Amino acid sequence: MKIVVVGTGYVGLVTGACLAEVGTDVICVDVDVQKIENLKKGILPIYEPGLDEIVERNFKKGRLHFSTKLDEAIVRAQVVFIAVGTPPGEDGSANIKYVLQVAETVGKHMNGHIVVVTKSTVPVGTAAKVKETITKALKERNANIEFDVASNPEFLKEGAAVDDFLKPDRIVIGVESESAKNLLHTLYDPFLLNGHPILFMDIPSAEMTKYAANAMLATKISFMNDIANLCDLVGANVNEVRKGIGSDQRIGSRFIYPGIGYGGSCFPKDVRALIKTGEQNNYQLRILSAVDAVNDDQKKIVIQKIFKHYNNDIRKKTFCVWGLAFKPKTADMREAPSLTVIKELLQAGAKVQAYDPVSMHEAKHILNGSISLCEDAIMATENADAIILVTEWPEFRLPDWETILDNMKEHVIFDGRNIYNPEEMKEKGFIYYGIGIR
Ligand code: NAD
Repeated sequence: MKIVVVGTGYVGLVTGACLAEVGTDVICVDVDVQKIENLKKGILPIYEPGLDEIVERNFKKGRLHFSTKLDEAIVRAQVVFIAVGTPPGEDGSANIKYVLQVAETVGKHMNGHIVVVTKSTVPVGTAAKVKETITKALKERNANIEFDVASNPEFLKEGAAVDDFLKPDRIVIGVESESAKNLLHTLYDPFLLNGHPILFMDIPSAEMTKYAANAMLATKISFMNDIANLCDLVGANVNEVRKGIGSDQRIGSRFIYPGIGYGGSCFPKDVRALIKTGEQNNYQLRILSAVDAVNDDQKKIVIQKIFKHYNNDIRKKTFCVWGLAFKPKTADMREAPSLTVIKELLQAGAKVQAYDPVSMHEAKHILNGSISLCEDAIMATENADAIILVTEWPEFRLPDWETILDNMKEHVIFDGRNIYNPEEMKEKGFIYYGIGIR
């Protein structure tokens, strides 16, 4: 099967590489010339465990190609996946202009039947706009070519994207024709050997499923953060509460870990975009407005604990920040809680020295010399007054505490992800602060 994937970010590159891995012929297209040149040389634009091997193998086998020319790629395609960014507009709604740009190019250059599949996260009604845009472009060139649109939202998680794509929990596809359904079923069959379902539905329901899934996960996190903050005030231990509720199968133990808020390129923007869709339909999604507000405040919860500990004066204090990526196993710093924490520390006159196992390159670019970036976790503790654990990378779990204690000026730790045992940390000589635990 001949596939074109447009956009070579987290979703597009993983989709393209994994589809090539099962034997299809894939062209990955992007407008970013540098990205495409680098990919041709085997340099990946993102850190994603296992992705480099799959890209290299399929590129060498001649099944995976990279190009900046969508007009040329489109000519031989049976299926086109649109996986470009849908960044938030100023009012929080999803900006679908890149998706529609791709649709226009497809309409201008296609020369045979194509199934155009939206994989980007897009509001309900976007596939209909894609269809309208292609139809208009075909009309302008007096071309009478049939095509199908479909919606295939992506559920991969950064840090486990390859595994999620190769062995998905489920595949959701919105279609409006039997032929598109059959073609996409054939394409996805190799990924369903684990017996997990492929769910065909109408297009608006597929578009809504993606937002509902992310909104539900964000809700679990904000709910638990709210409970953790109350635990702090009433003297309960949220770790015990979490285990207590998580063993109820109706609730489940995943996604109920409190911390300093969710970040990344999806949850914050998708929650806000769904709230906006509600508003556009005169419906207020009250739960999601609270989820978003709780998350904004939660990113500052560690800062509040820091100010309280230092009586509101952190000038001349040096903070060691462990973890900059929005979560472990990714370099992605979009909407990362670390950025909120660092900004507040700097504004209050403190010094920051930070370390992250993989996002140092991003950090250099984003933080632009405003903090010291250290080569390793231990170095970042030198002469620090306190450690702030922001991202729970495995290497922070059991570091060389003896050297760290020697390195530090004072022994205070703010554990933004509750990864340490408070009693053990106190025994080592730290003043310990967690989220919802003592
Ligand atoms: P990204 O920012 O990593 O990559 C998007 C790519 O699209 C960029 O390389 C950009 O250059 C390219 N692009 C933009 N306009 C283009 C055009 N007209 N033609 C060709 N290429 C173009 O984005 P991402 O994280 O891969 O997300 C893509 C979409 O998938 C978004 O809608 C996002 O919400 C959704 N999504 C993301 C994830 C995730 O974990 N990152 C998971 C599921 C869904």
